[in-house]
Amino acid sequence: MVGGLAKRAFRYERRRPEVTTLYRVVQENVETLFSAVSEGAVSVSLPGFVRKELSSYLECGLLCRGFARLRCGACAESRVVAFSCKGRGFCPSCLGRKMSATAANLVEHVMPRAPLRQWVLTMPFGWRARLGYDGKLLAALLRIFTRTVLAFYKERSGGESGVVSVIQRTQSDLRLNPHVHAVFVDGGFAVSEDAPLRFTSLGHLRTREVGEVLERASARMRQYLSKRGLLGGVEAEEVEAADEAPESSQETRGHAELCGSAASGQSPPAGPQWKKKEGSKPLAHVATTATVLEGSQCASKDGFTLHAATCAGAEDEGGRERLLRYVLRPAVAQERIQRTEEGLVRIALKKPWSDGTVAVELDPLSLLCRLAASVPPPKLHTVRYAGVLGSASKLRSRVVPTPVASGGTRVEDGEPMCKRKGRYRPWAELMMRALKLDVLECPRCRGRMKLLSLVTDVAEAGRFARKLGDPPALPPRAPARGPPYWQSRALRRLAGAAA
Ligand SMILES: [Zn+2]
Ligand SMILES: [Zn+2]
Repeated sequence: MVGGLAKRAFRYERRRPEVTTLYRVVQENVETLFSAVSEGAVSVSLPGFVRKELSSYLECGLLCRGFARLRCGACAESRVVAFSCKGRGFCPSCLGRKMSATAANLVEHVMPRAPLRQWVLTMPFGWRARLGYDGKLLAALLRIFTRTVLAFYKERSGGESGVVSVIQRTQSDLRLNPHVHAVFVDGGFAVSEDAPLRFTSLGHLRTREVGEVLERASARMRQYLSKRGLLGGVEAEEVEAADEAPESSQETRGHAELCGSAASGQSPPAGPQWKKKEGSKPLAHVATTATVLEGSQCASKDGFTLHAATCAGAEDEGGRERLLRYVLRPAVAQERIQRTEEGLVRIALKKPWSDGTVAVELDPLSLLCRLAASVPPPKLHTVRYAGVLGSASKLRSRVVPTPVASGGTRVEDGEPMCKRKGRYRPWAELMMRALKLDVLECPRCRGRMKLLSLVTDVAEAGRFARKLGDPPALPPRAPARGPPYWQSRALRRLAGAAA
């Protein structure tokens, strides 16, 4: 009996996203946010792609918006799987699925059988807002960083390394903090005449070397910025970012302000922290500072930090996939978000801050602004390849793993989503990898389930959802509250004083 129940609990079930705290907070506050923005009560604007992302998140995983039906060929047992929003910013479910897909693809088709090392670069505080909305600038700085590290690998190993880098946009409290997780092949491939590629591993990495890499990268980034006349402006801080907006359209300015407030965690849309951190001091300007070596394989300089201590061995399959999943992980984990009695939202931190803070509390509108800022600008690729893994590299085809003959894994015909071009992975396989579940296994007879139909008609989907006890229509969004829009008493007082 107990065994049976436990097994059942591990089978795939509908997600019921509408009962999660995150969903409810968005559902209850999104119209208020839109209204506060249009009334000018919050000095930010929400670009179209951000509004769209907030809205489609509210439809993600709900049967009434469409779904796929699966049926067991042997015993006619059937199940349904709702469509998802494919969000790029914060939808925990969609980003979790993307994490699994990308990590699996990297392990099987991209990363050479060589040791891997993660290099994590964080940017000076005063640059974060700008890098939040200026995708081109962020991409340029990322390129400078990866080239610097690739050059270091060449010096040390005599060969060419490669890297897949991932741009993460937020920190643990969801403040905007664009930073880079780059997984390098930890060594270099040397090309020699008529011989196979020879790989030399980096071996021990000294903390001093991490410091030197950071010094070079920092100097090159500054040089790049000052050549373009950006350094003064970016350094001038106090998030006057709007003035340097790439195109000074209204919307870009508003997006800049949104990113500014989401990076500082302070100005209007932000709420009081649960435990006040003594003014998380913004750098007045990014001064040149001496390199500080911290602990093992960590260094900081000029407001940057660089960590390079995490590795995974060439043969450590589990460790490699875990590392890649880690660098690709979604910003928000459902279980870190709770509501307080006063109607605020508490975000539990992944690790306590050095001052002992374990969680922050925000006004719901502040949370929504942080979620909004977490959506990457359209066209900004958040996963990039360089060195021997770059698409232009002549060595790429010689270092990537040779594809396994597809005898082992059958291509399932029961894909609930339409096939896409490129490396789209069967959904069922992803669920298997991510959750160790076999969603195409019939819960009754253990036979294989097949895709029966896709239901995209909303009326039909609604009727079906009702039959299954799911909401027959989208849960209505709470209507906009009037001013003061805030739940937080401190912010209400502020709003009252300003009026
Ligand atoms: Zn069956
Ligand atoms: Zn989604």
